[in-house]
Amino acid sequence: MQDLFPVATQERIVRVLLDGMDDMVFDYAVPAPLASVVLKGSRVEVPLRHRTATGTVMVLNPPSQGGWKGKLKPILRAVGQGPIISEQLMELAEWAARYYAVPMEQMVRCIVPESVRAEKHEEKTRKMIVLQNWLDDDELNKLNAKAPRQASILRYLHADEEKRAPINDLGGSAALAPCRALEKRGLVRIEEERVHRDPAGSETFALTQPLALNEEQEKALEVIISTFDRGDSQPMLLQGVTGSGKTEVYLQAAAHALKQGKGVLILVPEISLTPQTMARFKSRFADMPGAVAILHSAMSDGERFDEWHAIHRGQARIAIGPRSAVFAPVQNLGLIIVDEEHDSSYKQESAPRYHGRDLAVLRAKLEGAAILLGSATPSLESLHNVELGKYTMLRMDKRADGQRLPLTRVLDMRSEPKDKRYLGIISEKLRLAIDERMHKGEQVILLLNRRGFARSLQCPDCGLVINCVHCALPLTYHLPENRLVCHICGYRAMVPKACPECHSDKILLEGYGTQKVEAVLRRCFPKARLQRVDADVTTRKNALRDILDDFRARRIDILLGTQMISKGLDFPGVTLVGVLNADLGLCIPDPRAAERTFQLLTQVAGRAGRGDIDGEVIIQTYTPQAAAIQFARRHDTDGFAEKELALRQQFAFPPFSHMAVLTVRSPKEELADFTIQTLCKKLRKELPPSIEVCDPMPAPIAKAHGQFRFMCTLKGPAARPIADTCARVLAPYKAAADIVCTLDIDAYSFM
Ligand code: ADP
Ligand code: ZN
Ligand code: ZN
Repeated sequence: MQDLFPVATQERIVRVLLDGMDDMVFDYAVPAPLASVVLKGSRVEVPLRHRTATGTVMVLNPPSQGGWKGKLKPILRAVGQGPIISEQLMELAEWAARYYAVPMEQMVRCIVPESVRAEKHEEKTRKMIVLQNWLDDDELNKLNAKAPRQASILRYLHADEEKRAPINDLGGSAALAPCRALEKRGLVRIEEERVHRDPAGSETFALTQPLALNEEQEKALEVIISTFDRGDSQPMLLQGVTGSGKTEVYLQAAAHALKQGKGVLILVPEISLTPQTMARFKSRFADMPGAVAILHSAMSDGERFDEWHAIHRGQARIAIGPRSAVFAPVQNLGLIIVDEEHDSSYKQESAPRYHGRDLAVLRAKLEGAAILLGSATPSLESLHNVELGKYTMLRMDKRADGQRLPLTRVLDMRSEPKDKRYLGIISEKLRLAIDERMHKGEQVILLLNRRGFARSLQCPDCGLVINCVHCALPLTYHLPENRLVCHICGYRAMVPKACPECHSDKILLEGYGTQKVEAVLRRCFPKARLQRVDADVTTRKNALRDILDDFRARRIDILLGTQMISKGLDFPGVTLVGVLNADLGLCIPDPRAAERTFQLLTQVAGRAGRGDIDGEVIIQTYTPQAAAIQFARRHDTDGFAEKELALRQQFAFPPFSHMAVLTVRSPKEELADFTIQTLCKKLRKELPPSIEVCDPMPAPIAKAHGQFRFMCTLKGPAARPIADTCARVLAPYKAAADIVCTLDIDAYSFM
């Protein structure tokens, strides 16, 4: 960025986006001494009325809006040396702000973490004593007689391999005076050393060597490297069955990028996964201390501050983290890897509601970096992009460890005797299978498919789910009006008295939680060491990691949990995986319900039989014929994708359209209802006819946190017109009392 004016004769003017206020921009003058550091993307302190505010420089020399010449207030201070936000990240933020219809300020907040913005966590330093000169025996004896403490410090330093020590190790502040005396004599030097707060703590990682790749891995890596070497940003989709050795390919691709002097960004699904992936990367690059930086939400502000700066300075060359790490300031970025690219945790469910994988694809393009998306069960979005020729497909169909994929059995719960003791939670066959594993001293994972809040109707006798006639997705039961409602299109129906299929009158509404299941299991297997994992258990920092460590060390026999335990974990002792309620994930009003269930079942099946013994998977279900279950049983990702994509196309669901959800919340029910009706009317008038706006309705979670929730679904061939129009129509409601309106573009949740 060049100076356009001679600094001495004409002031530079910048447009600053202020922190904490939705898109308030003001123009300021840049005093001459600051001209070289205040650039686009710089952080600055500015006067605002009677206080000081902080903000980000958005535009250099904005076109004059007239009248401000000579009247502008000056910038008070520049934070840091030069821009904190790179040109490319700024562009990414601007694009995302428009695409997701959120204020730019929210995107800037994603890019610069709070601790970095506030500059509250100054770098931590410690005093080090460094040996400069060594005395001969004679002199040392003399010193010892006069000042024994000084002599002993000198000896201590001399014995140290690096001839240096933190002053704290020498007795802390009491050692300061003798050290200063030694410094005066020219024998030692006292210096400040930066202390890096490392989230991996004192954990050490033993260096691992690259494995000799098998043929499939070799082929995939070749394509990745040649794409990287060309600087080609067309995304590559690595579809590799669980255990095919994708991580090894990531590691070698990253090593190649580092060798070419490029930085690497790796996105992983959620915090829970980070320690494992982190350990594999830290170990492979253990000979390059500090090369791997970790960013995740469980870090302290100080740790985040240090890791962020290490990346920003270009010291850390590999950044690993969950979706928010897509904004990590990796220098000279050359390669982005998105592991488990189908994972729904890449979508942020609070404002700004961006999709980490989608932004990663855009970032790669802006940076001219290569991008690799990996999964055993790719998202239909990505598979569709392969069909369209936008993505390159790489495949690894064999397990690298030579294991067979586990045998999967589907158990029909409809024919299970209705025994009160087991509450329909666990079948006899699964009980026997677990008993057998316990006798052999093997381990078991039991998975509970988390049920959403939506209550749909399923017949326990024939498994029928009451679906919408238009969308073929489950209808949701609404208590106050005793009606079934489709949350995708707004269709309403009466609640049937009996099952339309088999005329049974036991229509099921209730699910059960992990705690109830735990109680039943403890009764069934009193001797087994059973551990439950769910959100309640894992609120404590490192709780999940500790549990998984115990499980790996075989201090736990049966691990019971939700989706949290289904991904990416590698336990050689596990020979049986049971899925307790495969259907519950299918009974939610969501176009991606079948896809998610398929992915969950396939991923979980990949957890069994990673050791020397063949694994077994047992899936309990009331709908054994469902495509998601049948294709998962055969590990047939292609078959499922083909069938499901045809269905999506038929109903014009994503990836053949974009869907958005508009939600209005208020403690006043009538106000929320009235507002959503008004908004929908306006939107119908202003949106192009290609965009469908469904009738507004109460959300499946009709009331939460004391607020009534109403929603409306929008669907169309493009997201842009939806975002732009909604932004305009919603603007007047931003400041409204008692009302919160939110828009979720490319929604992944319809609750
Ligand atoms: P994925 O990420 O595809 O599920 P992993 O990377 O976890 O698979 O690999 C599964 C197992 O196979 C790991 O234990 C890994 O060390 C091993 N593995 C990977 N590549 C090779 C290889 N080329 N030779 C031998 N073992 C391998
Ligand atoms: Zn029935
Ligand atoms: Zn419908």
